[in-house]
Amino acid sequence: MNVSNWISGNGGDNRRGVSTEELRRHNLAAVLDRLHVSGPLSRSELTERTGLNRSTIGDLIGELEEVGMVEEGPAPSTSGPGRPSPVARVRPEGAVVLAVEVTVDSIGVKTIGLGGHVYNEQRLVRPRARFSPKETIEDIAKLSEPLLAALPDDHAMAGAGLAVAGLVRRSDGFVDLAPNLGWRNTPLGDMARAELGIDLIMMANEADMGALGEYRRGAGSRVGHLIYVAGEVGIGTGIIQNGVPMLGSAGYAGEAGHTMINPAGLPCRCGSIGCWETEAGEEALASKAGIPDGTHGQALLTVLIDRAEQSDSVTLEALGEIGRWLGLGVGNLINTFNPELVVIGGFYSDLYEYVEEGLRRGVMESSLEAPLGMAEIRRCELGVDAPLIGAAELVLSGVIADPAGFVARTNGGVAQSVQAGIDPDATPAVD
Ligand SMILES: [Zn+2]
Repeated sequence: MNVSNWISGNGGDNRRGVSTEELRRHNLAAVLDRLHVSGPLSRSELTERTGLNRSTIGDLIGELEEVGMVEEGPAPSTSGPGRPSPVARVRPEGAVVLAVEVTVDSIGVKTIGLGGHVYNEQRLVRPRARFSPKETIEDIAKLSEPLLAALPDDHAMAGAGLAVAGLVRRSDGFVDLAPNLGWRNTPLGDMARAELGIDLIMMANEADMGALGEYRRGAGSRVGHLIYVAGEVGIGTGIIQNGVPMLGSAGYAGEAGHTMINPAGLPCRCGSIGCWETEAGEEALASKAGIPDGTHGQALLTVLIDRAEQSDSVTLEALGEIGRWLGLGVGNLINTFNPELVVIGGFYSDLYEYVEEGLRRGVMESSLEAPLGMAEIRRCELGVDAPLIGAAELVLSGVIADPAGFVARTNGGVAQSVQAGIDPDATPAVD
């Protein structure tokens, strides 16, 4: 059975081999997902977009109202004659996520509800002093506390999503290796559960989260095959294939930053030589532009943009070269995955106008004509927020897949970790 057809439905009639209960759950998920992603919609718009009939839509809205995730009311603004039809909209407090991002330079936290509503946010910039996992978890708890306390009284906590710059095992948040944070074999998921007092914690690599964020709410919201490439200290890559995150067997897939691109290149923090990020990453950029060691992150960006705006030739040449190395790697990804869209994020998006030409040159050099002809390359839309938004979407996808089940677990006081039971494949596709 084709699940995407099943979710979009064609009238809510029962199909052979599918229980009424299962069908209803999928239809509920389809309606909630449309409202979550598209914003307020009238019943007739929902009918059109889901293929379900009007009376089924009415029943489903009623059920979503009962569990506190949707409310129906007048349209926000109306024009033209006649009585406006009411619209259904999500209630953000119906499911709220604590989204966290741990990068080499900072920790970002946001509280995000259904519909992508951001309640509050906070970012702590930290020196690149290689904080221990314990210090990091304590910082996350300190940053999160006031944000969680400020949530509406009637909110339902869905869980926390943590994006980490490293190899993160999806099943339990074990960090196998985070070379740029200096961590190895760290049970960060267990530590976060103990410190934050939130039962469900879902963790993933930050580029995987960024890809999900851009796919659900950014540049990729109309495509099924997307690759997200972000420049941080290294290069992070997240891949979505046919609407489903490509994770590999443990969640370690997409480490394209550590694929060899230059056998004669420099040593990488991962222990290898000539990795893509040693040629196109931040350190390479600073060194090619002649900017002294120790200038990195936002300070480096400021200097580079300043010099580029003044048409400094060394800086422009360095950005062109970095763009080409970036493009050579992107071309390899285009050949391997045949994406519709490559989204360029992280610091590359701040420098996009200066790296774009080199990037396109590199891509032309390394990719085959047919997949290249199908791949659009674009700057990201969510900027630095992409991984946080993706972290929220990851947790919310479990709520959306089974809203009634979520409420039953929460109300029963047994909001136990159902991490293993949440299938990322269950994220309903965006049409
Ligand atoms: Zn490497």
